Amino acid sequence: MFDKILIANRGEIALRVHRACREMGIRTVAVHSEADANAMHVRLADESVCIGPPPANKSYLNIPAIITAAEVTGAQAIHPGYGFLSENARFAEIVEAHGLAFIGPTAAHIRMMGDKITAKQAVMDAGIPVVPGSEGGVDTYEDAVPIAEKIGYPVLIKAASGGGGRGMKVAETAANLKEAMDTASTEALAAFGDGTVYIEKYLGRPRHIEIQILADTHGNVVHLGERDCSLQRRHQKILEEAPSPALNDDDRKKIGDVVRRAIEAIGYRGVGTIEFLWENGEFYFIEMNTRLQVEHPVTEMITGIDLVREQIRVADGQKLDIKQSDVTFEGWAIECRINAENARTFAPSPGLVTDFHAPGGLGVRLDSALYAGYSIPPYYDSLIGKLIVHGRTREEALLRLRRSLEEMVVGGVETTIPIFLDLLEEADFVSGNYHIRWLEDWLASRE
Ligand code: ADP
Repeated sequence: MFDKILIANRGEIALRVHRACREMGIRTVAVHSEADANAMHVRLADESVCIGPPPANKSYLNIPAIITAAEVTGAQAIHPGYGFLSENARFAEIVEAHGLAFIGPTAAHIRMMGDKITAKQAVMDAGIPVVPGSEGGVDTYEDAVPIAEKIGYPVLIKAASGGGGRGMKVAETAANLKEAMDTASTEALAAFGDGTVYIEKYLGRPRHIEIQILADTHGNVVHLGERDCSLQRRHQKILEEAPSPALNDDDRKKIGDVVRRAIEAIGYRGVGTIEFLWENGEFYFIEMNTRLQVEHPVTEMITGIDLVREQIRVADGQKLDIKQSDVTFEGWAIECRINAENARTFAPSPGLVTDFHAPGGLGVRLDSALYAGYSIPPYYDSLIGKLIVHGRTREEALLRLRRSLEEMVVGGVETTIPIFLDLLEEADFVSGNYHIRWLEDWLASRE
């Protein structure tokens, strides 16, 4: 087993990875920008290396600096966390070319799934149902017209390289198809350097349901059930739960088996998430994420499996020590993504955290790098913590969520905690009766 791992990330996820390493007896190297010298992940790690100035492209995305940090500290493996370099195939290749282990899938699989068009083709060939749409990229408006007609409006124009909800535009009718294509393409070209777009049927009121998988390098794959991530703002998840209030055991087993066999066929290694939209009892693949996800803790809470520990074991070439029949689901877990933002306008609210009190008690987990006296830098995303609760039932989890949100104190900056307290007053949320557009409609109704 590795005796030293470099964590190429910051914030709560760097801490999350550090915690798994610590429990496995592995020493950790934190890397940080000049803005993060006092960050908790730096304080807790065994060693730390400053890799550049505050902007991410000069530090957390600075591949030569990260590789150098691994070499000077004698780390044997790099964990990329999520975001930053976690889905950068070139980074995975460079890490391995330097004789280090990349704690994640192969560069080839990252590349395959990083392009949504090749990803869709690959999973479709492996037996996974996909959203009806164009076969591959669509170059011109003239090519798009007959395809959109065939699928039926409204259609969604999506960028092959899109991510974080960017590069996605709806065309309600033929009249705004051209505009939607141009906007999606321009946005994707600017953000991701590739303007290729494709067309999908636009689903009206689906749920976002994703399946967590875990695979070793010996051909063993297990699925760890689903997460429901339908509560979104601007295509970004805000709250996730596992299991989904919409699925029953049969649905879960059926889609889980399909996904497990497909991942086996693809020969994937590590953790991964197959994302679906779910409408009228049908699953439609939208994309695969080849990394640990922000919302992974809800799966950990209902399965008792430490996903980061498993990632590290798989990267070390070890066999999974569980079979599908060993995976059981206990109770209900809900995660809230707490951001340092104004709860009405969502304007970022960085700055000094004057007070901090973490909620606790049975079934409460807070993944956060905050502490009193910490100053949230303005350079990165505004996630300051993930509050995860677990209960024997969904009702119990909801009661626990309210109780722990009320206990939590973050002074000096604005947070999105009030949104979750308000959500708990909403009948549709409490009954689990929501879809991917529900949250935006609700937020709009409060304005
Ligand atoms: P990204 O990589 O930008 O996150 P995804 O393909 O994962 O993009 O989609 C993000 C979200 O966008 C989904 O959870 C869903 O809310 C919405 N979405 C994506 N595809 C469709 C579709 N075909 N119809 C309706 N909504 C969609």
